[in-house]
Amino acid sequence: MKGRLREPSVSLLEDAGLGPEQPGERALAFPCRNAPVDVLLVRAADIPEYVQDGVVDCGITGQDLVAERGARVEELLELGFGSCRLEVAVPEESRYDRLGDLAGASVATVYPSLTRRLMPVEVDLVDVTGSVEIAPRLGLADAIVDLVSSGNTLRTNGLRSLGPLFSSQAVLIGRDGADTARLASMMRAVVEARAHRYLMFNAEEAKLAEVCRIIGSDSPSVLPLAAPGMVAVHALVPSAEVWRLLPELSEAGASSILVVPVERMAR
Ligand code: AMP
Repeated sequence: MKGRLREPSVSLLEDAGLGPEQPGERALAFPCRNAPVDVLLVRAADIPEYVQDGVVDCGITGQDLVAERGARVEELLELGFGSCRLEVAVPEESRYDRLGDLAGASVATVYPSLTRRLMPVEVDLVDVTGSVEIAPRLGLADAIVDLVSSGNTLRTNGLRSLGPLFSSQAVLIGRDGADTARLASMMRAVVEARAHRYLMFNAEEAKLAEVCRIIGSDSPSVLPLAAPGMVAVHALVPSAEVWRLLPELSEAGASSILVVPVERMAR
């Protein structure tokens, strides 16, 4: 993992206790702290083949690249970063409105295999090696198939999306038969932890059923407080729910609400 997946990948290794032996290591290969693991930093696009061919036992790359290369590797774990979609886009002023309208149209992409497989109609593929989004303006193609995350690049280039073909995020992949279970479980504990927060608050015991419903848990930890009729409630909640939970809990009379990050989590 080099390029845009590099920083989040190294930070995942660090959080899993597998950061470089020398902190701040910038080399293309480094041994890890705490485990007999050597990390190689190579292009995300090369990783599916490296893993398939046994150059390395596992790798971090995009699901888009694994699928495009058709690599015979095992997807061990979705990593929760590097999210993007492979989308079909046309110039703003184009007459095309739906994917189905593109039958026979020319489509520029660096994802010929996925495009051929996932487009609902036959198209003429125009192979390009980069800067796909300017192909329509150069008259090279009627449409493009390219990765989109925020949509800003499409807008800047006067393009509009006709819809997604494929959703992708970074994944840990392993060679069939390689001994990857330990590494995968160390990373899983961090990925799961990042997706959760530990929530603590005080509430009236009489409101317990209501706050359990709000936090979506039947059996949070409930501890008696010194004040009669009051309890402390502790629960793991999805990180994405926190913004909704806090005002609802306050509304239900909860107080001293604390939200703390979780470092590792094994179910
Ligand atoms: P790289 O070319 O090494 O910077 O990494 C490209 C990979 O990053 C892609 O194959 C995707 O899996 C992922 N990615 C996530 N968001 C985007 C995006 N907006 N554009 C391109 N690649 C993205």
